[in-house]
Amino acid sequence: MAADATLESRLKARALELGFDRAGIARLGPSEHAAFYRAWLAQGRHGEMAYLARADAVQRRLEPAASQPGLRSALVVCQNYHPGDDGAADDDPSRGVVARYARGRDYHRVIKPKLVELLRWLEAEVGQALPLARASVDTAPVLERELARRAGIGWFGRNTMMIDPRAGSYFFLGTLLLELELETDLAFAEDRCGSCDACLGACPTGALLGRDDAGAPVIDARRCISYLTIELRGPIPRELRPAIGNRVFGCDICQSVCPFNNARFVRLTREPGYLARAPRPPEQTGPGPGPGPKRPDSESDSGRAAAAAIPGTSGPALLDLIAMDEAAWDEFSRGSAIRRARRAGFLRNVAVALGNWGAPEAVPALVRALEDPEPLVRGHAAWALQRIGTAEAQAALEERRAVEEDAYVRDELIAAVPD
Ligand code: SF4
Ligand code: SF4
Repeated sequence: MAADATLESRLKARALELGFDRAGIARLGPSEHAAFYRAWLAQGRHGEMAYLARADAVQRRLEPAASQPGLRSALVVCQNYHPGDDGAADDDPSRGVVARYARGRDYHRVIKPKLVELLRWLEAEVGQALPLARASVDTAPVLERELARRAGIGWFGRNTMMIDPRAGSYFFLGTLLLELELETDLAFAEDRCGSCDACLGACPTGALLGRDDAGAPVIDARRCISYLTIELRGPIPRELRPAIGNRVFGCDICQSVCPFNNARFVRLTREPGYLARAPRPPEQTGPGPGPGPKRPDSESDSGRAAAAAIPGTSGPALLDLIAMDEAAWDEFSRGSAIRRARRAGFLRNVAVALGNWGAPEAVPALVRALEDPEPLVRGHAAWALQRIGTAEAQAALEERRAVEEDAYVRDELIAAVPD
């Protein structure tokens, strides 16, 4: 880069060197979507995501410069996470589908250190500390997508994703809020969705509601599979379970059908950490110093270690997923965004997927899941067994109903085997 290049162009070039795929600079004014955002919250469309509605967080999201006087601009970075195709998992109901963004390493662990490194570089360039600066990747109340639009990255698609016209929407966004007065990029002003509404028709739960009067895309998060399989801590509403199909963590459907994500635009990630994890044997630990996975300390632990592989994230067999005990879950989810669902939530999702598969060969695993220590897992296993409906499934449900003490699970059992 020429020695006389501007600070802004050197900053963006440094971001690309660090592994980001795009970078832009936005002004930090009040949100243009404040009224819409407040109305969306008032309608309860954020579901149980209470952190979105906390008054202080709403204020920081909608007026970042007012809530932190001194902040002037935002650097927005994008990192492509597309790990490649999931084989035939989408069409194989015996396999689970994990959203593309979560098949590899937890993106927070990849992006945040790079943003901090970028900040240190910037401080060295300007010759001063920037104590107000904040690096964020989903970790602070920041309207990343609005800042991305202002930074010229792209537009809000009807699927609510930020779409880069040259690269589609399979990318993470990170932001660096700065007290520096930087020259901003030209905001992206167009809506390139045009007359397309492919995502609205493809959403299996009807979560996408089109654009509001001001042109903002509206989603009812309470119906979105990403919310139901990740954020929701309790039972998945029964009427929505069939539509989830074999999605066990997140959902990419409204991105997959988007014409801007076709092969002409989309490239695979340059970050090896985002590639899907392969199945692997459980970690075997020997004696030795330092932190590390726990040694098997009982016969049953040793037995599991000898028997069960840790599932991969590219189309894992549902029967392998439902068999994960706490130790296997710990290994499966370590360092992965999947951990957010917790074991109870994840196995809840797997039980729903098994019920949607509907195959009698799933019955023995679901009968074992009826004994799971987590009520959430037992309750959804009951639903799945009722869907499969074989004599063996029916007998197991009746047997469990006779001894189950948890009120929620009893409700599920009563719905599955009415008097
Ligand atoms: S992620 Fe899936 S469920 Fe959510 S809006 Fe998109 S298609 Fe619908
Ligand atoms: S599928 Fe069509 S309407 Fe939906 S975000 Fe993509 S271009 Fe826009």
